Amino acid sequence: MNVILLGPPGAGKGTQAEGIVKEFGLVHISTGDMLRAAVKAGTEMGLKAQEYMTKGALVPDEVVIGIVRDRIAEPDCEKGFLLDGFPRTVNQAIELDKVLASMGKNIDAVVNIVVPDEELLNRLTGRRICKTCQRPYHIMFKPPKVEGICECGGELYQRADDTVETVKNRLDVYHSQTAPLIDYYKEKGVLIDIDGTKTVEGVFEDISNSLKAKV
Ligand SMILES: [Zn+2]
Repeated sequence: MNVILLGPPGAGKGTQAEGIVKEFGLVHISTGDMLRAAVKAGTEMGLKAQEYMTKGALVPDEVVIGIVRDRIAEPDCEKGFLLDGFPRTVNQAIELDKVLASMGKNIDAVVNIVVPDEELLNRLTGRRICKTCQRPYHIMFKPPKVEGICECGGELYQRADDTVETVKNRLDVYHSQTAPLIDYYKEKGVLIDIDGTKTVEGVFEDISNSLKAKV
């Protein structure tokens, strides 16, 4: 089974990805991790990607797709894979479909974790990190015993990425990029919307049951 995992920042995608690959025996393909690995291994595609990354530029579609194609062609992906962080745009999705078709493969399911923006704002803007030991806290879900202070005695701070303004901006970017992608997969009949407001275990159970129904 070949699956794509979609979800906004703060939806708990990383945790769910871990559970899905374990439950269904899939290869976890994270494009971020793969780009770094390809660069490290010095493959042709990795070297190309590095050119852009050292310039601080976005890695072009053809390079990312090349890296994904090489990974999917490896024998361990025969039993199925979970794509995480790719595709991000409809253009990438179309290219991915072409690559898969040339290998006689296809996407069986696209898991879309849905969480209202208001909830994501609560989750993301409440995060606090210890300056000393980097231990994470949350003002609502995992508050420190003493306000503003870590168990180690260090001072807690809010990352620049987690301020209301930045989070709103990240969510806007996510929605504008992903909305067309969601439509694309809905039309193909492979989209599975999952209520991401439940507990981690509840969300996983829903994903797991939906995917089992697809096998
Ligand atoms: Zn600390």
